Amino acid sequence: MGAALEIRNLHVSVNNQSILKGVNLIVQQGEIHALMGPNGSGKSTLSNTIMGHPAYEVTAGQVIFDGVDLLELETDERSRLGVFMAFQYPVAIPGVTVANFLRNAINARRKVANVDDKGIPIPQFRKLMIEKMDMLHMDHTFAGRYLNDGFSGGEKKRAEILQMAILEPKIAVMDETDSGLDIDALRVVSDGVNRLYNADLGVLVITHYQRMLNYIRPQFVHIMMNGQIVESGGPELALTLEERGYDWLREKQNGEN
Ligand code: ADP
Ligand code: MG
Repeated sequence: MGAALEIRNLHVSVNNQSILKGVNLIVQQGEIHALMGPNGSGKSTLSNTIMGHPAYEVTAGQVIFDGVDLLELETDERSRLGVFMAFQYPVAIPGVTVANFLRNAINARRKVANVDDKGIPIPQFRKLMIEKMDMLHMDHTFAGRYLNDGFSGGEKKRAEILQMAILEPKIAVMDETDSGLDIDALRVVSDGVNRLYNADLGVLVITHYQRMLNYIRPQFVHIMMNGQIVESGGPELALTLEERGYDWLREKQNGEN
């Protein structure tokens, strides 16, 4: 069996305010999960916590990956284990091309495996990058662009997907941080996920938008409200959401409380 990301009874606070209130979720390699929910329900808090953002304080519960306690590790260690976070490097880096950036990312990894590593030979790197760009149907000129410098929403996503293709994570967490996610960016992400998806890749797609699920077909759909997953199901749950929105869940919650 492949590696799994296991979130167990996770409670998280930001500025001493409790945001996540007992989240349970397991994502296995080879599975696509969608986490949906209204704005402010805690979706990004979950992804930030998985990756180790310092502002998010875990007050209870666990995040385990492949049997390892992720909460004990630094962000880059988490990433080296094979957990990929789509918005790891959202900032513009002047003077660094997409290709340079990706080569540095690969070399940093190789160095951890072997301190004497001299880095990936350029011809090998070029071959790898071209192979991945072709797989993703990307124009080769993209590799020469300066990272995030004047990138559209779609181009930022393209850079992230290419990074994901090259790093080959076991689990990818893709948080569609709402603003600026135009239809182009949405397509890039969903095409990318669909092309990269295989038995060794597990994906947690986090989105506020139901329309995302017109492009990505998750096997599992979870709905977060008020810091908890209140409903889980198969793809049919996304259809119910499309028809009925979130209100029926709010009512159901109120009925239970
Ligand atoms: P979602 O991604 O579902 O829209 P978030 O996780 O971004 O939800 O936010 C959930 C709640 O946590 C909101 O009330 C938000 O204001 C608060 N929150 C999240 N991150 C921070 C932060 N860094 N600083 C202060 N409040 C935050
Ligand atoms: Mg969010």
